[in-house]
Amino acid sequence: MRLNENYARLNESYLFSNIAARVRAYKEAHPKEDVVSLGIGDVTRPLTPAVICEMQAAAHDMAAEETFRGYGPEQGYSFLREGIVRHYAKKGVLLKEDEIFVGDGAKSDLGNMTELFGRSRVLLPDPVYPAYRDVNVMAGNRIAFAAGGKRNAFKPMPQGERRYDIIYICSPNNPTGAVYTREELKAWVDYARATGAVIFFDAAYEAFVKNGDLPTSIYEIEGARECAVEFCSFSKSAGFTGVRCGWTVLPFELAGGELNRMWLRRQTTKFNGVSYVVQRAAAGALGKQGEYENRKNVEYYMTNARVMHEALTAARIWHTGGVDSPYIWMQCPRGMTSWEYFDLLLEKAGVVGTPGVGFGRHGEGYFRLTAFGNAQKTARAITRLVEVTEEFSSRN
Ligand code: PLP
Repeated sequence: MRLNENYARLNESYLFSNIAARVRAYKEAHPKEDVVSLGIGDVTRPLTPAVICEMQAAAHDMAAEETFRGYGPEQGYSFLREGIVRHYAKKGVLLKEDEIFVGDGAKSDLGNMTELFGRSRVLLPDPVYPAYRDVNVMAGNRIAFAAGGKRNAFKPMPQGERRYDIIYICSPNNPTGAVYTREELKAWVDYARATGAVIFFDAAYEAFVKNGDLPTSIYEIEGARECAVEFCSFSKSAGFTGVRCGWTVLPFELAGGELNRMWLRRQTTKFNGVSYVVQRAAAGALGKQGEYENRKNVEYYMTNARVMHEALTAARIWHTGGVDSPYIWMQCPRGMTSWEYFDLLLEKAGVVGTPGVGFGRHGEGYFRLTAFGNAQKTARAITRLVEVTEEFSSRN
């Protein structure tokens, strides 16, 4: 038996299990105290009526001989891809239906897309959504990191003329909440074109951008159709974390259409498409009523984000995000490590967040808060967080 040795090179990810273990121990020791989590990114609001209505209608279709659907098109049903084309057209981005591939979420496609490339040199941001790093370790790729920090407001920019095969960009960013401007993304597109790289653009949080001047798709940038693949998801905008649906865009200009053809070949060989019921539900999310309802949910999260952002700003705690993104990335007080701050908050405030170091070396000393939670609990948690942080800062 010959195993893929690259798997032995993966760092065990203890981040969320470590958080869960510490919270469990705290609750056992303090059974009466209530603990509020600002840590987990997948506790969204439930599916909306427009989505459920389509899901139910599709389930009924499956129960009747005349409307039953078996295997569907691997790329996704036209009714959904047309909806996605319209979604982009509203941003002024014109796509063709065959440039869109419906999948079971951004994570799978982001991971599987590395298959289309040989051994690659990849550039990842640090801090980083951990799956980008792990899939490239699994593929045996050479990984370099573009460092985020206070200096660049956690928006690393191209440096020099070094060549990479693949560059990952996530905007709005998980974990930092930072959002690239048009000019900044243009610099990345120009760099990718000049050096022959492909950009993997993760737009999973595009629905959270309120500022109309900020790009929500890489294809709003001139030249991106020649150098970028875009990944998007219904998970956070429509509460599909457990339903599973997303899409990937491969423009025909990219490698002369070769990547589009290869991905189609890959999907038809290894994937039999997303279920009809789920695709109808996703189309419901993109319809007029679905869009309205999901916008209300996004507004709910963004009110949480604003409450946290304002509380941190008033307390002069340095942070990014929380304005056009559901994540807030704050600096830990007084040079604390992110795990020390985690313990302080849990012990003194009963608040749980995510230590920044779990997202990479450059995340040390920072802490991630998410807006995907109950409004009252979030308001209570941020008040306690600020009190404890201010008290700690004044004592030390
Ligand atoms: N990309 C980023 C940056 C994410 O934060 C997440 C989920 O948390 C995903 C992709 C995964 O999305 P999906 O649920 O569509 O697989």
